[in-house]
Amino acid sequence: MAAEPDALSRRAALEAHAAETSGCTRCRLAQGRTQVVYGIGDPDADLMFVGEAPGFHEDKQGYPFVGSAGKLLDRLLEGIGLTRRDVYIANVLKCRPPGNRDPQPDEIEACESHLFRQLELIQPKLVATLGNFATKLLSGKPTGITRVHGRPQEALVGGRRVTLYPIYHPAAALYTPAMLKTLEEDFSRIPELLSGTDAAVAAAEAQVIRFPTPTVAAAAPAAPPDEQLGLF
Ligand code: URA
Repeated sequence: MAAEPDALSRRAALEAHAAETSGCTRCRLAQGRTQVVYGIGDPDADLMFVGEAPGFHEDKQGYPFVGSAGKLLDRLLEGIGLTRRDVYIANVLKCRPPGNRDPQPDEIEACESHLFRQLELIQPKLVATLGNFATKLLSGKPTGITRVHGRPQEALVGGRRVTLYPIYHPAAALYTPAMLKTLEEDFSRIPELLSGTDAAVAAAEAQVIRFPTPTVAAAAPAAPPDEQLGLF
């Protein structure tokens, strides 16, 4: 089906924004990057994923999630009948932090308006935030992913109302079978949430209230607190 004129103009605006962002020098990460990793996928997608920051392979190739975490993301998408061409994938940071260290607060602050503009132009129905950094930034709340994964929540992002769906980061799930299982379970509910009815979101929220996610301490006694777990 041909795209609506509005979708065509948003697509053009997204391309223009990508071109503009490719020369960004707002923070120190500009010095060490190979290139800006803007995002990839359908500019008119209903479902958008937001990860943390490009890693080694993403920095080299210029696309998000092309390494092992990306392979897992592709597999999870396939499990719900989608490919990365059906969705849009971006990160909180558009440039690789050296040695894949955690994003710093001033880097997130410098970069966040790029992501907000992407959200404004793509207008996804559902934004799946992968891990702590994306979840905390877009929810505007400090609660870590261990507490909020699998719970859709309404948020105001860059002045727009969006439904966020926090889930574990695939890179974290790669090495922790229990986390992978949870990620698969949370992922399997995406089609229902995408069906777009407020009822689906309300039902999902109600389910979470009836069966609350265990606290960090109860779920993983040996793990350090949220703040120390970049991806979790
Ligand atoms: N991890 C992320 O958060 N983003 C990528 O693009 C790759 C790995």
